[in-house]
Amino acid sequence: EVKKNGKNGYQLFSNELDNQLLLRFEMESDLRKAIKENELTLHYQPQVQALSNEVIGVEALVRWNHPTKGMLSPGLFIPLAEETGLIYDIGTWALREACRQMKEWHDAGGPLIPVSVNLSSRQFHQANLVESIRDILEETGLEAKYLELEITESMMMDPDLSTEILNKLNDFGVRISLDDFGTGYSSLSYLKQLPIHRLKIDRSFITDITQNASDQAIVATIIAMAKHLNMEVIAEGIETQGQLDFLTENACKEIQGYYFSRPLPATEVEETFFVPYRQSRSILRE
Ligand code: C2E
Ligand code: MG
Ligand code: MG
Ligand code: MG
Repeated sequence: EVKKNGKNGYQLFSNELDNQLLLRFEMESDLRKAIKENELTLHYQPQVQALSNEVIGVEALVRWNHPTKGMLSPGLFIPLAEETGLIYDIGTWALREACRQMKEWHDAGGPLIPVSVNLSSRQFHQANLVESIRDILEETGLEAKYLELEITESMMMDPDLSTEILNKLNDFGVRISLDDFGTGYSSLSYLKQLPIHRLKIDRSFITDITQNASDQAIVATIIAMAKHLNMEVIAEGIETQGQLDFLTENACKEIQGYYFSRPLPATEVEETFFVPYRQSRSILRE
């Protein structure tokens, strides 16, 4: 909508678009402030060995504890952070905080499990990514093998470039997992030559898996393919016993989802799962 606006000429935006821009601008400056004032926090969701209920890893998921809007989920601000470049600061912070926390848990006698951290596309293509990760591991004292980076198929649009980045990361000793697997456009011929340790089956294939024959076929195929490619496989978004049964019957042993636990603040993770760790196994299914 182009409006005539008196002597100032044309007002190019409708009021609604104006409001959207304002909100966006406000949110961007809020987010800048949030980084400085420690309003960001990480929650951790356990990844579980389905048969034993053993916690085999945790995924770090960022939250924004907004002063007036409450706890905001990443879907509400990561896209803006990605567009504005704020993702570099947020991503570096998340990597450092996740590594620091996992090292603290290891030192306190917690299980020697890895922490998974999501990378956005801009982070993945950041020129100094490997150096930045090396610095963070050095600083926090976490061994590289206890850090897993979650990337998505959409970041691999340039196969040669992503192969180069992934090889550098792999040589360095961190683990790589392919998040939301099945929703992007992975070229299977590249998949076999990339140093990817694990496929994470996307939640969209799990939701209706007890009824939907196509989802069943897709998931069974991903599990079989991972096995043949010598990759680990984990299913995301398990909420029910029925979904869990399908996966275990189809030899997918690793599970992440609300059925076992929602993402939790660090203190709740330790109380529920790590202290003392042996008791956690029985707590899970009660
Ligand atoms: P993701 O990496 O695929 O993370 C899984 C999302 O599914 C999380 O949402 C988690 O809370 C949710 N989830 C887990 N189990 C279940 C379940 O059983 N049912 C349902 N309905 N949902 C489940 P969350 O925490 O809102 O994160 C959304 C996305 O934001 C993540 O998707 C990831 O792509 C991104 N993200 C989160 N933290 C970071 C971060 O530190 N850096 C970057 N770059 N992205 C992040
Ligand atoms: Mg993830
Ligand atoms: Mg995912
Ligand atoms: Mg994702």
